[in-house]
Amino acid sequence: MTTPTCDDPDQNAGSSPLVLAELPLELQDAVQATRERVSALHAELVRYQLVIWTAGNVSERVPGSESVGGLFVIKPSGVSYDELSPASMVVCTLDGAKIADGTSERLTPSSDTAAHAYVYRHMDEVGGVVHTHSTYACAWAARREPVPCVLTMAADEFGGDIPIGPFAIIGDDSIGRGIVETLRGSRSRAVIMANHGPFTIGKDARDAVKAAVMCEDVARSVHIARQLGDPVPIEQHHVDALFERYQNVYGQKPDEQEAAR
Ligand SMILES: [Zn+2]
Repeated sequence: MTTPTCDDPDQNAGSSPLVLAELPLELQDAVQATRERVSALHAELVRYQLVIWTAGNVSERVPGSESVGGLFVIKPSGVSYDELSPASMVVCTLDGAKIADGTSERLTPSSDTAAHAYVYRHMDEVGGVVHTHSTYACAWAARREPVPCVLTMAADEFGGDIPIGPFAIIGDDSIGRGIVETLRGSRSRAVIMANHGPFTIGKDARDAVKAAVMCEDVARSVHIARQLGDPVPIEQHHVDALFERYQNVYGQKPDEQEAAR
């Protein structure tokens, strides 16, 4: 029996009657700006060694697209990272259907599009989603073991353990449902899907990419710590204080928070 993989192009929701060139100019501009951001952010996945071949993808909700029911931009399926460009980024409705976005009909959205779309439909606050098969996070996925909160950076970024999501097969809403059910009500912006790999969310795509980078870094450090003994958990009140402080550092704006690290 063959199981569809994350790079199988036949797992998408078809096409939508929306035509990009017929949308209000302001919205077309917003789509273009989103395509540029999402295309550039894929280079970060490569830079931080979170992806191999064509696996892994970034998407971002198009600001101001509520008037047409919501749109997001995502990587095309099966295209290698050095061939990506803003013009090849695929535009989808929140049902995961590709709109007439000016790209070739053969260019289908990432096979993970249904999962991204599910997250956007069910978590209004999410503006960006990232999926990778980064090595150390996948090692925790293989054991179905949450990454324990044993580093202050993990407390800062994720507010506790990085949770494991359910085992889910690509092809319907089960991955998206697993992501949403695990992250809703959690402080973590990362979930490691069982036997699969990490999905991260953020207020925009850059924020979700940052969470993917941090998730892999924490997974790696804790994996290494395990080699020589048992990592010591941080007491819950310290985890709470670290998370609160980092999420609201001196009332700074997000860019300044990052600079302050
Ligand atoms: Zn995958």
